[in-house]
Amino acid sequence: MDIKQTDKKYVMGTYNRYDLLITAGEGCYCFDEKGNRYTDLTSGVGVNCLGYCDREWADAVSEQAHTLSHTSNLYYTEPCVKLAKTLCERTGAKKVFFANSGAEANEGAIKVARKYSFDKYGSGRSTVITLKNSFHGRTITTLAATGQDVFHNYFFPFTEGFKYVESGNIKALEESLDDSVCAVMVEFIQGEGGVIAQDKEYIEAVRALCDKKDVLLIADEVQTGIGRTGSLLASGNYGVKPDITTLAKGLGGGLPIGAVLVYEKAENVMGFSSHGSTFGGNPIVCAGALKVLERIDEAFLDDVKRKGEFVKAKLEGAKGVDSVSGAGLMIGIKPVDKKSADVVKKGIERGVLMLTAKDKIRLLPPLTITEKQLDEALDILLEILAE
Ligand SMILES: *Cc1c(COP(=O)(O)O)cnc(C)c1O
Repeated sequence: MDIKQTDKKYVMGTYNRYDLLITAGEGCYCFDEKGNRYTDLTSGVGVNCLGYCDREWADAVSEQAHTLSHTSNLYYTEPCVKLAKTLCERTGAKKVFFANSGAEANEGAIKVARKYSFDKYGSGRSTVITLKNSFHGRTITTLAATGQDVFHNYFFPFTEGFKYVESGNIKALEESLDDSVCAVMVEFIQGEGGVIAQDKEYIEAVRALCDKKDVLLIADEVQTGIGRTGSLLASGNYGVKPDITTLAKGLGGGLPIGAVLVYEKAENVMGFSSHGSTFGGNPIVCAGALKVLERIDEAFLDDVKRKGEFVKAKLEGAKGVDSVSGAGLMIGIKPVDKKSADVVKKGIERGVLMLTAKDKIRLLPPLTITEKQLDEALDILLEILAE
């Protein structure tokens, strides 16, 4: 069977795939059907934080698959409970709801915020403010939450109750925070929008405004969470505690998971039958996520920070590099004159996989990649940028 042709025939064409068939992976490397090796600086868009097929992770997952693969949320299971406890202990959150993706986690967070407000103030206080250039997912509601006009097409009517303010502009936020608002949702570092980190002062001011108005601060850490920026959560870098944090991508280490973490204010908002998910908290997925959290300890995070600094030092000021943004191993590179998409295409030909984010080249390598492996892949990127 010709995989590429068959894909084109039977899989909905929602992705413009690169001309690359990946058949296997190990660590930071993956292989095509001819055995060609690629250094993967994408991690399946920030998912494979321990790299491809990490031995301990794969063992934990397969052991769980042989013990208890799935049951329903009508019963208790150990992996789900252990993961919830570990997440709360490591983040300071009070309670967790497990979903299956980032969009779904964000939907859950929006539900929590709206119910918090409804319980306390009654109806009419349902607006969620998000930032321009944000990205929050592909469901009808999270598309509405996404502050980019290009995403607000075709699928009308979108969910009501979203307003967008200019990112980094605290005055704009202050003016929008009227009595209809129940939450402000932010990415501390905008990922899809171009790897753009918010200023610490801005985030602190957002926190203070939310406190003043009893509006919940939702941190969308779907991309920034689970060690990606050198702290377990990016909120740790900012020293700011949100009221709700959403996680997905890296948490499962390669299996689908989403999580809604609530802190003190929202601890008891969601009671019996207010939310649900058939697959949420699936034992296999949770066993994998537990292994991810077990591996990402303080020493591991220090290593991510160190490797992030290494990448920045190597790229900043290099020929063809205009600027470098991001934190830890979430890195944006603005080329001087090249189109990011062209650089990524050339990278594939040269055996290095990278992502784009608007006009930037975006790197989300596995957190376990070594400095030497990074060095070799970045040499190739720099060659392409200098051509
Ligand atoms: C990827 C992403 C999402 C959507 O996650 P899915 O798992 O694709 O639904 C939401 N928010 C941010 C910040 C993301 O990077």
